[in-house]
Amino acid sequence: MNSAPNAPSSPKTAPPSVIPVMLPDVSLRARNSFGFDVLAEQAYSITDAEHIGAVMEAIKAANLPWRVLGGGSNVVLPPTLSGVTLLMDIAGQAITQQDERGAVVSVGAGVNWHDFVIWTLDHSLPGLENLALIPGTVGAAPIQNIGAYGVEVGEYIQSIEAYDCHSKTLVNLLASECAFTYRNSIFKAHPNRYIITRVHFYLPAAWSPRLRYADLAAAFVNRHVPTAEEVMVAVCKIRNRKLPDPKLIGNAGSFFQNPIVEKAQYLALLKQFPELVSYPEGNEQEGKRKLAAGWMIDHCGFKGLRAGAVGVYQHQALVLVNHGGGSADSVLALAKTIQDKVQDTFGVTLAIEPIRY
Ligand code: FAD
Ligand code: NAP
Repeated sequence: MNSAPNAPSSPKTAPPSVIPVMLPDVSLRARNSFGFDVLAEQAYSITDAEHIGAVMEAIKAANLPWRVLGGGSNVVLPPTLSGVTLLMDIAGQAITQQDERGAVVSVGAGVNWHDFVIWTLDHSLPGLENLALIPGTVGAAPIQNIGAYGVEVGEYIQSIEAYDCHSKTLVNLLASECAFTYRNSIFKAHPNRYIITRVHFYLPAAWSPRLRYADLAAAFVNRHVPTAEEVMVAVCKIRNRKLPDPKLIGNAGSFFQNPIVEKAQYLALLKQFPELVSYPEGNEQEGKRKLAAGWMIDHCGFKGLRAGAVGVYQHQALVLVNHGGGSADSVLALAKTIQDKVQDTFGVTLAIEPIRY
């Protein structure tokens, strides 16, 4: 410390909108769950929402392409990411309101999702336990309205703070404005409009376990009503059993979305494939069905297939994996082979879930 002990402190003003340091040639190998060799030409680590305006001005002035990256667990990245990559590293979580009905929790976009789920349970705030062990960041969770075991994150979001690239300001969007649907949201539908900086969750005090999915229900057969912690532990056990750990084998979770089809198409398919796995989707009158894409891919004989460095996971055909040395091109070529075969066999188009750059 150079300043004299009694030196007057500087006036308390809002911090200036400083631009963080630009990082050249950043390897993203550890920041994409496929483990592909990826180099970002320029990157900024965003640790404060107030810095985004200045960074976006610089990007615009240089007329560079840009994109946002969280944990990289739902993306297929090419060997070089040209232009600018914003690494969302905003930290921090806190209970901002609480009464007997529930609590509002505000969380920085860069917080690890699973760590946050554990934190809520440590603070006696149940609700998110079915979503345990989903990789990635809190800021990315609303993008595809992450879901697992019958729970979607949108159900627990009160509002979202985001940098709006149109108005060039920080805005607060209510959950009702985010158009959350099955693995979709306004953010996915309008990429590069909003940069999510903070998510405000509402976790109601009234809670009961949600055990609709067979694997989860089976964990509690003939037992007392489980606690949220017990549900979380069961979810982690099932996931560890069925899904590859990206630290050990590269993957981006489900590579395809479960297609949703009209009743007539479903009934025609059922006639041809009596073992077809499907579930009712949306309101009963419409009769729409969600088809299990994993079952269709398995039926076509792809489960466990290896195509050079990439392949189809042996325990879950919906997951494409990188055995080592794979790339965006190789995994997308395999995906195309699968899509074509499923289209020929079932007349159904499989949409790729991860975002491609
Ligand atoms: P990234 O992969 O970094 O980014 C995904 C997209 O979101 C990109 O388009 C990116 O630009 C955008 N984005 C990221 N952060 C922000 C931000 N702050 N503001 C604006 N845009 C942003 N998903 C499920 O829904 N359910 C599951 O059960 C599930 N299980 C998985 C299991 C495994 C083993 C793996 C590898 C993935 C799984 N996923 C699952 C997919 C993935 O974990 C989620 O989609 C997760 O939310 C992605 O977070 P991320 O931080 O890694 O996002
Ligand atoms: P699973 O339980 O074996 O179920 C297979 C498929 O059937 C899932 O895709 C699921 O749809 C659907 N399903 C099962 N029971 C259902 C029910 N009661 N009602 C409606 N749909 C039902 O699936 P899994 O592979 O082990 O995955 C378990 C959960 O984790 C699923 O919710 C899955 O979405 C989620 N997960 C997602 C990813 C991803 O990257 N998106 C990766 C791994 C796991 P839904 O997928 O719509 O739930």
